[in-house]
Amino acid sequence: MTDEWMQLIIEFTKSDYLTKNLVCPDCRENDIEYVYVGDKETNIGYLTIWCNQCRNGVQICRVSIPEGVRRLDFDDLESIKMIPAIKLK
Ligand SMILES: [Zn+2]
Repeated sequence: MTDEWMQLIIEFTKSDYLTKNLVCPDCRENDIEYVYVGDKETNIGYLTIWCNQCRNGVQICRVSIPEGVRRLDFDDLESIKMIPAIKLK
């Protein structure tokens, strides 16, 4: 993962998991989206965060999913399929 995307994730967590003020490190567009995918019981999963314009993004594995965030369950395959294919940075 590049330092710029790492920085974006830090800003994301600091701003209560809101993306409205985030700017893509690669194309500079303000169109960042995320979703957590995880297990209902353990609340452990992964975070995918990406830019809707250039489709670059990052994935962070084995995170504890915070409260109140956009999330999907591991077994919700139909919804997981809706996550766009991203180029991992
Ligand atoms: Zn972008």
